[in-house]
Amino acid sequence: MAYEIHNGRISTWSLEAHLVNHCNLRCVHCCTLSPRLAHSVLEPAVLDRDLRALAPVLAPQVLKLTGGEPLLHPAIVACLHAARESALAPVVQVTTNGFLAPRMEPAFWRLVQRLSVSLYPSAPLPDATLGLILERCEQNGVELRLKPAPRFSVMDADPPHDDPAVFESCWLRHRCHMAWRGRFFLCTRPPHLAETLGNPALLEDGIPLHEPELQQRLLDCLQRTAPLSGCRWCLGATGEMQPHRQHERAPASGPVAG
Ligand code: SF4
Ligand code: SF4
Repeated sequence: MAYEIHNGRISTWSLEAHLVNHCNLRCVHCCTLSPRLAHSVLEPAVLDRDLRALAPVLAPQVLKLTGGEPLLHPAIVACLHAARESALAPVVQVTTNGFLAPRMEPAFWRLVQRLSVSLYPSAPLPDATLGLILERCEQNGVELRLKPAPRFSVMDADPPHDDPAVFESCWLRHRCHMAWRGRFFLCTRPPHLAETLGNPALLEDGIPLHEPELQQRLLDCLQRTAPLSGCRWCLGATGEMQPHRQHERAPASGPVAG
């Protein structure tokens, strides 16, 4: 896929930033491997620095603050400030399961521009919480998107594979770019696989954000034809769909999320 440059910036679909790795739910086949990751909170200053590096050269349509469960971040308002002030994207979205929305302070509702709430049949959101979300969004002019997610795709490859077709057919590499602790990744999987597999070499799938020639290196990354190292442990878009469900208890760390 060819990426276009407008006004000096590469046009892309979206960019994610994961504010925390952990979550208050334990969805089986969580795409970001959250139930298997240690608690981790992104420092707002790190987010700010990464977004400021990207803003002159990248133009995603939307910046998604997600996780894990982003509402678990103790300074989510500072993260929202960083996201808005970076002017990286015209829309700053928070993607959440919604359970902690009642805890959010007024500044959260003033700063978020779009709230995307995933609705899971195995963990239904209480009616009162949904009602509060509807009310706060209406009061503050926040665009609300409710996204039912009755099925999840199996994404973990066990055993690992060397099939280049998985990367070639993977839509996530065009839709799920991520800034993560000083690096840009084509998708959200490699840094999280690096943790669950105990394989820090997978971090090399991301390109450094704070080195020269960033735009050219971004273009090379976006238009690469060779699979990522992390693709070996991933089924991309080729995995079967399964009904959404929760782990009964926290799973042990490892490559398989089932
Ligand atoms: S709500 Fe489920 S899918 Fe989303 S991050 Fe948490 S565990 Fe993963
Ligand atoms: S690791 Fe590879 S196959 Fe998996 S989502 Fe990323 S690009 Fe797609």
